Amino acid sequence: MSEPLFLKPVFHQKLWGGRKLESAFDYDLPDGNIGECWAISGHPHGRSMVENGELAGQYVDDLWKDHKELFGDPKGEVFPLLTKILDAEASLSVQVHPDNEYAEKHEGELGKTECWYVIDAEPGSYLIYGHHAKTKEQLDSMIESGDWEHLLRKIPVKTGDFFYVPSGTVHALNKGIMVLETQQSSDTTYRLYDYDRVDKTTGKKRELHIKQSEDTIMVPHKDPELNIVKCSEGKNEFTTFVQPPISPYFAVYRWQIKEPAVFNHEIGKYTLVSVIDGNGRLTIDGNDYKLSKGQHLIIPATVSQWTLDGDLDVIASESGEE
Ligand code: ZN
Repeated sequence: MSEPLFLKPVFHQKLWGGRKLESAFDYDLPDGNIGECWAISGHPHGRSMVENGELAGQYVDDLWKDHKELFGDPKGEVFPLLTKILDAEASLSVQVHPDNEYAEKHEGELGKTECWYVIDAEPGSYLIYGHHAKTKEQLDSMIESGDWEHLLRKIPVKTGDFFYVPSGTVHALNKGIMVLETQQSSDTTYRLYDYDRVDKTTGKKRELHIKQSEDTIMVPHKDPELNIVKCSEGKNEFTTFVQPPISPYFAVYRWQIKEPAVFNHEIGKYTLVSVIDGNGRLTIDGNDYKLSKGQHLIIPATVSQWTLDGDLDVIASESGEE
């Protein structure tokens, strides 16, 4: 098996979602406010199905169990990563995610460290990242009095930015921002503040999780020390945003391709690929596969070498786990 696995996106309606994924990626969206495209997923809340080749019709989580060779014979029980595209027409709730230990104990799943590559941000956009409380007592009292204005840290954001959001980081994407998110395969979110909004579909406010948030939020907030590395080879540019050990769960890359580029897998590695712009070609063992904006695929561990060519802007990731 040396074929790429092209995957069918799964769309999720969200109170804060919009319709931009339709115009941006030409997706055939269901009705409603579509906030999330689950692009590469083995999570039960939105499983990716293979669309091409010998394994067409099979789901990533089943392949993880039945075709371990595709993923380098991993030890983990679940496909560890989840790639999404988020379209925030309105602001998301202010939230935090637990680490593996807390999530395992309270939710029976993985914790959630995530990161965002900003595909598009309207001028003047900002997001919430971190908080200003110095101690746990101060954090709890600002939460209890609802002093969001002083508690939450606002950061300006523009297209092309990258944010690493380890578990325990208070965060929110705000309106006018579209990101590609690479995260641990988890759907556990603790909602701290939701702007007192009412969900149109249910007529109710969404549930908050104050206790879990207070348990989970890192105090004081500390920005991660990222080491973003950019290099050019000919007309191509390669950026490494994060990788282990700084980011233990995944490495995330951007590849801007203008001429043929050859990639090799380290033994046991597989690669998640999302085409965020352009058109081009993937070649494996002399077979060509067309690539275009909005496609998502896995290049399995059974492929040792491949070539990308054309005019492509790609976000790729690899699991940090053995
Ligand atoms: Zn989040």
